Amino acid sequence: MAAKNRTWEDKVRKVVPYVAGEQPKDANIIKLNTNENPYPPSEKVREAMEQLAEEADLLRLYPDMDATALVDALAQYLHVDSSRIFVGVGSDDVLALSFMTFFCGGGTLLFPDITYSFYKVWASLYRIPYRTVPLTQDMRIDPAAFKAGPEDGELAGIILPNPNAPTGVEAPQADIEAILQANPACVVIVDEAYVDFGAESALPLLEKYDNLLIVQTFSKSRSMAGLRIGYAVGNEKLIGFLKDVKFSFNSYTLGRPSILMGTASVKDEVYFRETTEKIAKTREWFSGELDRLGFVHPQSRANFVFAKHPAHTGEELLQKLRANGILVRHFAQPGISDYLRITIGRPEQMKEVVRVLEEIL
Ligand SMILES: *Cc1c(COP(=O)(O)O)cnc(C)c1O
Repeated sequence: MAAKNRTWEDKVRKVVPYVAGEQPKDANIIKLNTNENPYPPSEKVREAMEQLAEEADLLRLYPDMDATALVDALAQYLHVDSSRIFVGVGSDDVLALSFMTFFCGGGTLLFPDITYSFYKVWASLYRIPYRTVPLTQDMRIDPAAFKAGPEDGELAGIILPNPNAPTGVEAPQADIEAILQANPACVVIVDEAYVDFGAESALPLLEKYDNLLIVQTFSKSRSMAGLRIGYAVGNEKLIGFLKDVKFSFNSYTLGRPSILMGTASVKDEVYFRETTEKIAKTREWFSGELDRLGFVHPQSRANFVFAKHPAHTGEELLQKLRANGILVRHFAQPGISDYLRITIGRPEQMKEVVRVLEEIL
């Protein structure tokens, strides 16, 4: 018998959405809560914007759906063939499409228990069963734990950020390789959103593993969170499957401005190195100051530090920093609720954070 009195609401896909960090209206706030870059994008990006203004008439036309200029610039920068690169509207777009493309073959998806909280949102959105893998006591990835358990059946796939978010901890390349070696029958995605701040990329492993997909973004290391550009690198076949799904979903994702300005950014490698190195240096200084103040934190290789203080709760520090005009991120998740994730800003901003922390403690 057909169900009675079903409404349109019973036919809706219901999801619990990802909650992003707050974007405050007050410009005086020291905003260290969403891992944005404190430095402006390359001067070349500004020049590209001016060129765009002159060519405004071209906005009548659809953009290049292959984003050829951007893909070619990335290929040259990464020393891989253009056929191995896929671009999207931020790495969130690339990751969402990757979940849809690679993790839908049945079985269980694995990711760390402390990680980017968007993964479980996409898993739920696409109805992919998942199991979280605990980090070690010192917040490392245990590569041996990333394999199918008796409860999993086979694996739908594996995804992990490296460095991990929100811990900042880098997994050595040998650990990534161990995971790939143990799991040739599913796609393994390494989300390298923070790799440019001093960590080692898994790019060299692409030669050996055809099931590896590496995802990177312009949002953090290239100071372009506002433009939304991300990309994936993998073998040609993998990228081909991703393109097939994308062209079945929305062919024109990157607009003309993104293609033009993204390309300009990639071509200015000197500025890119300069700013990412500056941030890494500030991170090392700030980590030392946190040690001096009695904070506990794993060593970070990202543009943020994940720290807690033995004498104060995370909630308390969050509120007191906020009262002093400093916004950081806090996760009300068991096991990490006393930690704050503090984005690395400019040196003078971090000095102010240290000054305020000294006052609070
Ligand atoms: C910031 C972030 C992303 C998403 O970045 P986009 O702005 O969508 O490119 C993806 N993964 C991790 C781990 C991140 O921290």
